[in-house]
Amino acid sequence: MTGARRLDGKVVAAAIRTSLPPRVQAFTAAAGRPPGLGIVLAGHDGGSETYVRNKMVACESLGVNAVLERLPDEASVDAVLALVDRFNRAESVDGILVQSPLPSGMGRDAEKRVFDAIHPDKDVDGFTPINAGRLTQNRPGIAPGTPSGVIELLDRAGIPIEGQRAVVIGRSDIVGKPMAMLLLHRHATVTICHSRTVDLPAVAATADILVAAVGRAGFVTRDFVKPGATVIDVGTTWLRDRDEVIALFGPESPRLDVLARRGHTVVGDVHPEVAEVAGALTPVPGGVGPLTITMLLSNTLRAAELRRAT
Ligand code: NAP
Repeated sequence: MTGARRLDGKVVAAAIRTSLPPRVQAFTAAAGRPPGLGIVLAGHDGGSETYVRNKMVACESLGVNAVLERLPDEASVDAVLALVDRFNRAESVDGILVQSPLPSGMGRDAEKRVFDAIHPDKDVDGFTPINAGRLTQNRPGIAPGTPSGVIELLDRAGIPIEGQRAVVIGRSDIVGKPMAMLLLHRHATVTICHSRTVDLPAVAATADILVAAVGRAGFVTRDFVKPGATVIDVGTTWLRDRDEVIALFGPESPRLDVLARRGHTVVGDVHPEVAEVAGALTPVPGGVGPLTITMLLSNTLRAAELRRAT
């Protein structure tokens, strides 16, 4: 990365994590048990296996009791709903996480049905309609981890939000929309873009803070970026094709070694050339990603504390 200041998500995640152990200890002492997170993993998606393993390790290292329930690829959506129901009723479970995506055989509306079934007070991903509504109305609740992590990153880097022009590319319920809401509540002037936005590069180039949450490798090129802008790259795409990696990063890139070793390299939505124009930029990997798990831990603790307080 040249030119742009690198916004290191690992450093910010580590700083946030140092604040969590005293809260875990205080909760455990008061409740007589550690905070509990129930995880449902259905199917055998390679990425999901990795994400869930990382979440389990993170919980363990903090003293949060993570309970994993696995279901096979051919499981029904009712089987997932039954596990959610069990976790909803379990006193020792403070947070529930159903790893996305669910197997495609469960049908198109499976995720919606499952997320809707999670008790809002245990909804540590912040995906339920209740928590989405609380976020929209700026009421206390649990906000999705990835956009919350972006706000932490901006704050800890000393990047002002109030009064700034922010553009979010992507309007999903889990990243784009909550990101826009969090920026709005911090008094940014927010524009949300999507696949039907006309003249997207010109709209994006009005941003002081540009957040890309699209899922297309290298999509945001330098013409999307106002010189000096802060660019947050939420996108994560697993590239497996050597020619595509060379087209993005050039034939000398160390990415090619990663590709040879692992069979893939994780890349963001932001083209490497943006580093020459942006004022600050999150890398992929090592930017927003590490914050997502940290914010999940923080949300689990918050859910545990709120349940005890009520
Ligand atoms: P999503 O549900 O697929 O949403 C993608 C959004 O991008 C949609 O709103 C879509 O617009 C928009 N889009 C697609 N093509 C576009 C185009 N050509 N021009 C403008 N907008 C376009 O994805 P998501 O769940 O929000 O995730 C987005 C990315 O973030 C993915 O790469 C995902 O893996 C990554 N992610 C990373 C983390 C992390 O921890 N780093 C966490 C969550 C997600 P329409 O609505 O018009 O279709």
